[in-house]
Amino acid sequence: MNHPRAAAIFNNDREKAQWHDETLWLVRSKRDQAAQSVPEWESLRERASQIKEHTLSRLDDYLTQFETNAVANGVIVHWATDADDHNRIVWEILQKRGVKQLVKSKSMLTEECHLNPYLIARGIEVIDTDLGERIVQLAGETPSHIVMPAIHKRKEEVGDLFHSRLGSDAGATDPAYLTGIARTHLRSKFLAADAALTGVNFAVAETGGFVVCTNEGNADLGAHLTPVHIASMGIEKLIPRAEDLGVFLRLLARSATGQDLTVYTSHFHGPRAGAELHIVLVDNGRSKRLGQKEFRDALKCIRCGACMNTCPVYRRSGGHSYGWTVPGPLGSVLAPHVDIDSFSSLPFASTLCGSCTDVCPVKIDLHGQLYAWRQKIASRDGASGKSYAMRMLAFVLARPTIYRMAGWFARWMLRHARPVVSQTLLKSWGKSRDLPAAPHQSFRSWYLKNRETP
Ligand code: SF4
Repeated sequence: MNHPRAAAIFNNDREKAQWHDETLWLVRSKRDQAAQSVPEWESLRERASQIKEHTLSRLDDYLTQFETNAVANGVIVHWATDADDHNRIVWEILQKRGVKQLVKSKSMLTEECHLNPYLIARGIEVIDTDLGERIVQLAGETPSHIVMPAIHKRKEEVGDLFHSRLGSDAGATDPAYLTGIARTHLRSKFLAADAALTGVNFAVAETGGFVVCTNEGNADLGAHLTPVHIASMGIEKLIPRAEDLGVFLRLLARSATGQDLTVYTSHFHGPRAGAELHIVLVDNGRSKRLGQKEFRDALKCIRCGACMNTCPVYRRSGGHSYGWTVPGPLGSVLAPHVDIDSFSSLPFASTLCGSCTDVCPVKIDLHGQLYAWRQKIASRDGASGKSYAMRMLAFVLARPTIYRMAGWFARWMLRHARPVVSQTLLKSWGKSRDLPAAPHQSFRSWYLKNRETP
């Protein structure tokens, strides 16, 4: 995985890259307006951060409390140590009930566990029912954003895809028409499905219930039309009390899309009469992260995507350039935990401007964590090109004669070989930038000529 190389491919289509940047900036602007409309926004962020801090400090207790209450509500609770375990548990539930068709609502956890290919290889038809997820599924791609999975696709591309896969009119680009095509297509899938799988946005320890937020109602439709509902949940999704929900629900939708609230905020507390409700609690490296002081805060994440929308690198490089389930600043913090060798370029995919930290509704110090990863990677990999450059600079700055000669040489190069410097030596940097014109003399020469002698 090499982020700069993947980002360069994304930027080959300059017009689309520009459009991607502007579209996400629009979402960020909506988030700003929504946040500014809530006078107590900053205290809400602080409260949310503290609730998560407290929950993580007693996660084992709250998980046990949640399990006890969920079981008392008639829910079947499973524990999965890793992705394989999670997939096996889901497969066994489906197998026992003879399920052939599964409708899924958006769940980044199942993306993280690669559930779809696992089930498809075992003969299950898996249908992602979130519109964006269905688009990327039909295109044979992965989501490029955790809230807007198909944000990298323009309506013309969606029109072509629906024409070839769903038989819509050729050349159609009207979003309302295309959404209607998707609705008709998905409705038949919902009616034929034998089971539904949803993610979990928040689980409440004191009630044993959980909340799923969607804008399309697809999670509700799946869960209410099929006899088996499986909810896959990362263990960090827990909050202690039902009254804490208000804090997070007010922050989540505003941070994600600038809405006051997601259109559907559905509370599940037990199975319907004659139906089954399963919850799979997944660790998959989370408890290890809990023990790492400098990185544990990332477990506070409520997956709003605001850090992606604001990140100048994400907006200009696209979600697929990160090569992992979660892109952007959050993904760059999480992916090295999974495989530091493969994802060592991701913590460097940031300007460290801190905008991600500023918008994060649970106050995760994202740019601090990116910096911590850089230090770990640099100390592991030994001296980098940058540290050699710094050593060289220290050598030159400590020797005035060499410094003067270097200055003379740099001015000569700027005067006589500017294209060579910007297009050959500084190739990537120089592609869209020009070097300044060389001054006709150094500051030292100017000073020697102009200083006033007492
Ligand atoms: S790290 Fe913060 S801003 Fe990014 S997705 Fe998570 S909660 Fe949202």
